[in-house]
Amino acid sequence: MKTLDEIASQLQGYDPQALSAAAVNDFLARLVEPVTAIEQAGIFDTLGRVTAQDIISPVSVPPHDNSAMDGFAFDGAQLQAGRPLTLQVVGTALAGKAWQGSVAPGQCVKIMTGAIMPAGLDTVVPQEFTKADGENRIVIPPDILQPGDNRRHKGEDLHEGRPALAQGTRLGPAACGLLASLGLQTIPVYRRLRVAYFSTGDEILSLGEAPREGAVYDSNRYTVFGLLTRLGCEVIDMGVVRDDPASLEAAFRAAAARADAIITSGGVSVGEADYTKAMMKKLGDVAFWKIAMRPGRPMAVGRIGEAVLFGLPGNPVAVMVTFLAFVRPALLRMMGSTEAAPPLLKARSAEPIRKKAGRTEYQRGIVSRADDGSLSVRITGNQGSGVLSSMVQANGLIVLHHAQGNVAPGDEVDVMMFEGAI
Ligand code: AMP
Ligand code: MG
Repeated sequence: MKTLDEIASQLQGYDPQALSAAAVNDFLARLVEPVTAIEQAGIFDTLGRVTAQDIISPVSVPPHDNSAMDGFAFDGAQLQAGRPLTLQVVGTALAGKAWQGSVAPGQCVKIMTGAIMPAGLDTVVPQEFTKADGENRIVIPPDILQPGDNRRHKGEDLHEGRPALAQGTRLGPAACGLLASLGLQTIPVYRRLRVAYFSTGDEILSLGEAPREGAVYDSNRYTVFGLLTRLGCEVIDMGVVRDDPASLEAAFRAAAARADAIITSGGVSVGEADYTKAMMKKLGDVAFWKIAMRPGRPMAVGRIGEAVLFGLPGNPVAVMVTFLAFVRPALLRMMGSTEAAPPLLKARSAEPIRKKAGRTEYQRGIVSRADDGSLSVRITGNQGSGVLSSMVQANGLIVLHHAQGNVAPGDEVDVMMFEGAI
């Protein structure tokens, strides 16, 4: 485990008072390490989890050459350009059974989708392309087929002895099905990441508490819960923690003892009168950053005990944005995933956007399809960093990069879609 100072010394131009978004991700990639514990999990328990080893295919899929269509199997060498081909039907090959028997030139076998190709036959003509010619004879019209058509090859999906999935693959529905197609019942995956989180601030009310002047209900714990659950983490909800040293110390110690990562919100801005930052500093190796970004900016990062700390700002939109931009990629690394950040889409801005060069700005955007089929994006109304309704209206974040300046209507901008990221 490297200390923050060691990591900082490896980075060019590290300035905790003015970090670019790219530098934050670079730093975090050096700070976090994947969990090491491995479990054998049943396939229903692997969705969203990460393979801990290469998964070597114990079989070929499909296990034998087979027909891709309902039709007639024959030896494609008999096809001649410009000529119809007449064949006698000598049997039927059903899916799930091997058809025994030999097929001479001029003969074919009626075959069902998925049935094993009879020995010596390499081509299937779909039933609807043929004409009947009396009983048990078919005619294939000229020039509609190539030899080898409509045959699936043994192992064309997965090959016995070769990796079907690489270590570090985050398993989605398709991968779960693929693992089942190999006949595997359990898969080696990394244990689930345990993430503890709490909200700080004396003005923060828990649900069920009576409203009082100057206080707001805690929303951050609920967005963080949702974001972590979508990632497949085991969540440890520690509630709202009072702004006094004893409560904060107890919360941080309990979180560090149980979790791989701790996420807090609030109490890290400049000029905070509270004890959160002091307690982080006392208990761990923690840096306090000002990030060149909007919304966001203040963030505390480091380690308390062995747990990685992400001290997010308090504003509800800033929490979600800093989570998506920095925490999510770092947690994916801790989960053992080699998954890259979701690809950014390009959309045309429907309106001008003011943007200051020298910081990354994340605007809440609504992407839709323009009349010409291209993607168009407009920003939701109020972009204030406390306006959570703007996150609800939006379906993605417009990412205006560090060096970028004002956006004119019609300019292309990058968008991180929520679908897939949240
Ligand atoms: P802070 O970063 O502590 O200065 O908080 C910035 C703003 O976010 C303040 O208006 C807080 O009231 C608000 N805030 C902090 N934590 C939460 C929370 N858990 N839920 C909703 N709003 C919060
Ligand atoms: Mg505060």
